[in-house]
Amino acid sequence: MSSDLQLSLFDNSQNTSFVTDSIPTNVKIPIPPGTYQNIQQITEHCNRCHRCELGNSRTHAVIGRGNPQAKILIVGEAPGQNEDETGLPFVGRSGKLLDKILESVELSTETDVFIANVIKCRPPNNRPPTVKEIEACKPYLLEQIRILDPKIILLTGATALKGLLSDKRPISKIRGQWIEWENRLCMPIFHPSYLLRNPSREPETPKWFMWQDMQVIKAKLDELKEQL
Ligand code: URA
Repeated sequence: MSSDLQLSLFDNSQNTSFVTDSIPTNVKIPIPPGTYQNIQQITEHCNRCHRCELGNSRTHAVIGRGNPQAKILIVGEAPGQNEDETGLPFVGRSGKLLDKILESVELSTETDVFIANVIKCRPPNNRPPTVKEIEACKPYLLEQIRILDPKIILLTGATALKGLLSDKRPISKIRGQWIEWENRLCMPIFHPSYLLRNPSREPETPKWFMWQDMQVIKAKLDELKEQL
């Protein structure tokens, strides 16, 4: 085989998508709605992204897992170490708890929900993402929402609530309430890692509230399914 032909086997420029070389690295330059046709294109793009410094330290950008056709999108905060290593969101301890919470109302992570994060790359030492990082990454989340078109969005924890809706109220004050946004129903809920730190199931504790919220969410999902 000629060396040119051998080298061409390593050239995947034909397979990579359309705009991956032109990600604006200046966060002031927007990524307009309609830039991507599917989640795969966002994944490719994010894995090359340097709109913020987290692009320098990531192993994998973490875009999502679950069913892209699901009516429920769950939005978390940011990848941790396990997520950075695997490229999948919520695969550590809080992810296992999230799976159990969903199972408790007969929802499966594989079929009934899609799971994503506000921030696609891991912040060092799992620190909370900065405002700048959230702003830099926001177009990707908005594009995910446009493509997935979920009817229900569950915002787990304050970063997800602030990141998507710019709502700075504490989760403990507004969890369990439906908030209409862009023709979708959003509900702030406790972050699973907060529940890991507060394991009591007594009435009026975070876990107990989560259980109430999940039942409201399941009932709304059933109602939406009946309308179709
Ligand atoms: N893993 C994630 O992917 N997101 C979180 O918010 C927490 C853990």
